[in-house]
Amino acid sequence: MRTLGVLGGMSWESTVTYYQLLNRGVRERLGGLHSAPLLLHSVDFAQIAAQQKAGEWHAAGQVLAEAARGLQGAGATALLLATNTMHKVAAAIEGAVDIPLLHIGDAVGQALREQGIERAALLGTRFTMQEDFYRERLDREFGIRVLVPGAGAMAEIDRVIFQELCIGQFRPAAQAFYLDQLALLKAQGAQAAILGCTEIGLLLEGCDSPLPLVDSAERHVAMGLEWMLGDSRPPV
Ligand code: GLU
Repeated sequence: MRTLGVLGGMSWESTVTYYQLLNRGVRERLGGLHSAPLLLHSVDFAQIAAQQKAGEWHAAGQVLAEAARGLQGAGATALLLATNTMHKVAAAIEGAVDIPLLHIGDAVGQALREQGIERAALLGTRFTMQEDFYRERLDREFGIRVLVPGAGAMAEIDRVIFQELCIGQFRPAAQAFYLDQLALLKAQGAQAAILGCTEIGLLLEGCDSPLPLVDSAERHVAMGLEWMLGDSRPPV
């Protein structure tokens, strides 16, 4: 197996999911006592979240680029950045290392394509829902049209992510609000919903959703497992 580097802690609530699913995936495929060869650099999310809020993306990118260099130096053969939002600075990370960054947007796009989805609802932070870095990649690389909630709902979804989900609070009121938004986006033509924030899967676990769900964390882990266990060679 190839060792995978994980840039986590954004928030650690969902990094736990990555750690569990990567290890489970290896056990399911290889059996016995096999587990995932991982290196984890888990950041202090308060610093990153403050930089996001202040628009200091360059500085946040430098923090992650430095962490990525450390993971490469310690033996990682590829990287998973365990957050959708911070893929806004994917280029800064990619520019700092010689190993591939397995992009979460590509993991989601491939899953949608396999399911024949062309119009998908997107829930995530306001950065992920509003800005181009995520939506444009889905459109350009996979031909997916993304539908997002209205401004007021977007603000509430974003508030819940930072004030509840990232500190481990998963409340029925938030669950109901998110599901209502998915029903509205379904009425506007969405065929599936992208859980484009790595903590949303924890909130909606076991819920009866009006749309089929594509969980970015799950798809991203699947991509990481393919790298660790697959026969594709690392780039020279
Ligand atoms: N984990 C979230 C995401 O997937 C939000 C935290 C962050 O802003 O990085 O986007």
